[in-house]
Amino acid sequence: MARPVDARRRAFLKSLVAAPVLASCGREPELPTPPGEWRNWSGAQRCTPKGGLQLPANTDELSGIVKAAKGPVRVAGAGHSFSAVVPTDDTLLSLELMSGIVGHDAANLTATIQAGTRLYLLGEPLAKLGQGLPVQPDIDLQALGGVLSTSSHGPGAQHRCMAAYLKEISLVTADGALRKVSPSAESEVFKAAQVSLGSLGVLTEVTLQNRTAYLLEERQGILPLNDALEQFASWQKQDRHTEFFAFPRGETAFTKRMREVPMDTPRTINAAQEEEAELEYASEVGMRAPFTIPLIQSVAGWFVPDTVRVGASYHIFPTVRHTLFNEMEYAVPADKGPACFREVAAKIRDDGLPVFFPLEYRHVGADDLWLSPYHGRESVTISVHQYFKQDHIALFKAVEPIFWKYDGRPHWGKWHSLTAKELAGRYDHWQDFQRVRQALDPGGKFLNPHLHQLFGV
Ligand SMILES: Cc1cc2nc3c(=O)[nH]c(=O)nc-3n(C[C@H](O)[C@H](O)[C@H](O)COP(=O)(O)OP(=O)(O)OC[C@H]3O[C@@H](n4cnc5c(N)ncnc54)[C@H](O)[C@@H]3O)c2cc1C
Repeated sequence: MARPVDARRRAFLKSLVAAPVLASCGREPELPTPPGEWRNWSGAQRCTPKGGLQLPANTDELSGIVKAAKGPVRVAGAGHSFSAVVPTDDTLLSLELMSGIVGHDAANLTATIQAGTRLYLLGEPLAKLGQGLPVQPDIDLQALGGVLSTSSHGPGAQHRCMAAYLKEISLVTADGALRKVSPSAESEVFKAAQVSLGSLGVLTEVTLQNRTAYLLEERQGILPLNDALEQFASWQKQDRHTEFFAFPRGETAFTKRMREVPMDTPRTINAAQEEEAELEYASEVGMRAPFTIPLIQSVAGWFVPDTVRVGASYHIFPTVRHTLFNEMEYAVPADKGPACFREVAAKIRDDGLPVFFPLEYRHVGADDLWLSPYHGRESVTISVHQYFKQDHIALFKAVEPIFWKYDGRPHWGKWHSLTAKELAGRYDHWQDFQRVRQALDPGGKFLNPHLHQLFGV
């Protein structure tokens, strides 16, 4: 049964077209976007979909659009991927109207959620059901479908990427049919659909294994970089979540360590933390006067006070980011993380590569998802960022071979240059995934040029 939709809301959303504008809700900077154009968060990916953004309000409408389209058909989540996973000048869908929790199981702590739901719209409603997401990325503007499809993750070896908590997936495939898959129903399709970059069909609803609602205490501080690199692996056992940022030209790590605290602990925050404006100023200064970067980075730690915050998990995980950037992130085996990080930082320093942003260092637990970068191994993820006004491709190309040397696998939603030729050998189930994809979408309806390159078809 089609759910009635407020026609004015749909017309308004459609007129905006640019998915990041849909995402912003006043919480993010806005880049100018010509009418009819879609762009990603950083502005590096753009397209002009035929007929504008399609906004199905329910599965029936969605099936009709997919069935009628010749392709390519792509889904835009919140447009927070840096790689070209979304763009198409043909059919571009948004599930912005297919949002919200549609069911839950109190005893087993699961919730069934529409795939268009933004993460920031999930925290409170889940908490009212007594549930919380086991882990979250460091922003919460993404759509659930987008986070799952790219294997997005939060910090800490005790937790896997978010797609590893999937119990059931409903998706509309190329023929317009709705399939429900799980470990017990079409288990191979389920394994492939957990991380599929939108190449198998459109996720409509997913059931997630959650946990009880919880509070986190986060401690931010600074540490000599060498100490952080040496101690970080041991923190994985002590802390529920950990990560650090460090400037390539500095000797200081900015650490975040989170632990669960009892529900009656007084909360000190009731909203996600805003990013400091200093990062944008420093990026502008560094771009115009690169000779200032080593000085600013070497003294940055002097001005950072230790802080402690306590709040609901969904307020502690995310940060509201105001400074736009592009990003490359690779996952390397956890024991290779420190050496890889040191080599990346040395490359940026020694070659004088023009970048102000810090590198980010996180652990992620091993999983068994076919296309997960963390498949079969506990991983360290290392992220390289570039201010959005500066050339990110030159920087990323200079650094990327270091990640290959350390057996790295790229984050699907972030910039990388790998194609099927290099990717196939990095994933045990690469051929299994291609077999399932070929069976579900023999005509390649869901492939855009980027996915053609990734899958070699
Ligand atoms: C500031 C910032 C911080 C970030 N922090 C983190 C982090 O901490 N950890 C991390 O792992 N990543 C992080 N990312 C990356 C981000 O989580 C991923 O790129 C994620 O995929 C973005 O979600 P989205 O909803 O914007 O999806 P989009 O970028 O719009 O789409 C991503 C992919 O999902 C597909 N897709 C979306 N919805 C559906 C659907 N319903 N059915 C089928 N396919 C679908 C799209 O077609 C595309 O292939 C960050 C990105 C930014 C910009």
